[in-house]
Amino acid sequence: MKITRQKHAKKYMSFYKYNFGFREPFQVLLDGTFCQAALRNKIQIRDQLPGYLAGATQLCTTRCVLKELESLGKELYGAKLIAQRFQVRNCSHFKDPVSGSACLLSMIEEGNPHHYFVATQDQDLATKVKKKAGVPLLFIIQNTMVLDKPSPKSLAFVQAMQANQLVPEHQKQSIEHLKEEQGLVKESENRRKRKRAGGPNPLSCLKKKKKGQETQQPSAAKKKRKRKRNRAKSEAKAVSVQLSVKA
Ligand SMILES: [Zn+2]
Repeated sequence: MKITRQKHAKKYMSFYKYNFGFREPFQVLLDGTFCQAALRNKIQIRDQLPGYLAGATQLCTTRCVLKELESLGKELYGAKLIAQRFQVRNCSHFKDPVSGSACLLSMIEEGNPHHYFVATQDQDLATKVKKKAGVPLLFIIQNTMVLDKPSPKSLAFVQAMQANQLVPEHQKQSIEHLKEEQGLVKESENRRKRKRAGGPNPLSCLKKKKKGQETQQPSAAKKKRKRKRNRAKSEAKAVSVQLSVKA
């Protein structure tokens, strides 16, 4: 069971990384219901989540979530203590706090630009999160944290993107990143540089050397000629100036 859970998570994480540009440290927005469930099920979010998502994880929440937990009093005191240890992300409700769920929804508007995960036990909020493409959803079930499978909305978004062959900015970046990872871009450049710095390998670079000389010589000669001309001109000028001064 545990192995399949981990396998699924790995697959879903690749989906979000490749199609939506998710990167470490993964930003996880947690609400009071998730903290309460973690407490009840004795789940150490900070210890367990990075292993499950296979990467550094930043736990965060909003001031509205904290305010809501405070207002709910004793029953959610433990959950409040957990949530208070998370990083507080700025929301747009600085003066007028809204409900935790409304606040988290506002954080993932306009295509979830900050690449937030949403961790909640609130079914209503979860349903609304699934209606937005590219927002991974975490919940707790049977004493474990689970990364939900990508929503139909996310799958449809990716399909449409592929059909239109549109490459959004974050995907371009992830393509570049993958290229770098697999050594298709920078590695090869580095190799060339290393060869130049370390001196050419006499066996593999014999032909290259000739080519290099052929191509380099004319340009070098041109430069030299130009310099000579310039020198000649400036010398001539200098001479004429001297002459005129003397005269
Ligand atoms: Zn807020």
